[in-house]
Amino acid sequence: MKATPLLLACTLAACATPPAPTDAEVLALHRRVLTLDTHKDIDPKLAPASLPADPATAAEFRRRFDPSLRGAQQVDFPKMREGGYDAAFFIVYTDQRRLDAGGYARALAEANQKFDAIHRMVQKHGDEIGLALSPDDVERLHGAGKLVACIGIENGYPMGLDPANIAAFHARGARYMSLAHNGHNQLGDSHTPAAPQHGGLSELGRRAIAEMNRLGIMVDVSHASRDTMLQAVAASTAPVIASHSGARAVNDHSRNLDDDQLRAIAERGGVVQCVALAEFVKSDAERSRALAAWRDQCGIGPQHQDTELDEAESDRRYQRFRDGLLALDQRFPRASVRDFVDHIDHVVRVAGIDHVCIGSDFDGGGGIDGWNDASTTANVTRELVRRGYDEAQIRQIWGGNLLRVWRQVEAVAARGGR
Ligand SMILES: [Zn+2]
Repeated sequence: MKATPLLLACTLAACATPPAPTDAEVLALHRRVLTLDTHKDIDPKLAPASLPADPATAAEFRRRFDPSLRGAQQVDFPKMREGGYDAAFFIVYTDQRRLDAGGYARALAEANQKFDAIHRMVQKHGDEIGLALSPDDVERLHGAGKLVACIGIENGYPMGLDPANIAAFHARGARYMSLAHNGHNQLGDSHTPAAPQHGGLSELGRRAIAEMNRLGIMVDVSHASRDTMLQAVAASTAPVIASHSGARAVNDHSRNLDDDQLRAIAERGGVVQCVALAEFVKSDAERSRALAAWRDQCGIGPQHQDTELDEAESDRRYQRFRDGLLALDQRFPRASVRDFVDHIDHVVRVAGIDHVCIGSDFDGGGGIDGWNDASTTANVTRELVRRGYDEAQIRQIWGGNLLRVWRQVEAVAARGGR
């Protein structure tokens, strides 16, 4: 068959396209780029100060909590090295409980245990990993060949009613704080439940944002309700982040951001970190139902929120939950790296390449087929290359944009938060 001129032109254009990079070239690119994950949860027993006396119990303890071993966590040093996963925000998370003095005190104690754990990790393993308090620190430590830990707070609840606590968090190394988690709190409304309590930010929430701007703590709007989130973007004098949220147009989940929200963050110079938590990447009603039922069965569902559990019992329940997830994944396949990068593509289309990064939510529910722990991080880069992103863009997506925002937040703080 004779080729039409149009087909001939296409064929010539294809000839002019450079050949796809080899996998070795993609891996070399991945190694050159600083990869920064903005959301990696921790257990307060991370990097234990001492081990149980019984050898078998001690070995299990190390498997679960010693970051220098290739163990049960999705992120540990061997997996970070293997996967070219260079830096992460280690998360001081507290779940949402009652809004009273007892609840605040308990949350503050739990938050401090997690701060302690991160500091213990960098002290015990200082030859391997360093704590970054600034974007310059991130680049310096990475340049020196070290892994990098930064600290983010998930849920402003432990602040209680006193914004002065935020200065204490900053002194302990926190460089971002989310306003809410699941359930409304004293700072504002969460994405759940749907019925608002404050109509967005509370007055205290506004004061907290002003204090974060003054100190140089990035305001994180992940988990906040739409109104809270939009009001926070407007109230903050510095750009904001969404440390682990996807695009609602790709997957209609209340934890994801719609196009207006993406544009609002971008217009003020902020950045959205697409989240690699399977349910947020791609909803599967059957899987969600099975997951909720399994949570209930393990005694960690929403109706157990107010149950006071001792640490051992809480540990036992969460461990049982995690152990059962594997079977669930086999029955209901999870979202893939391709599904995940669809969110990145969408944020790039709507908000622009300068406003997207990545937050895995590893060790806090995150993980997708193909990127289930730090060791397989190059798979994300492979997919970005396959979709045509160049090295400079991949550098932005893998943390460059977040470092830019962090520097802007520092600059606002240097002006006294204005
Ligand atoms: Zn979260």
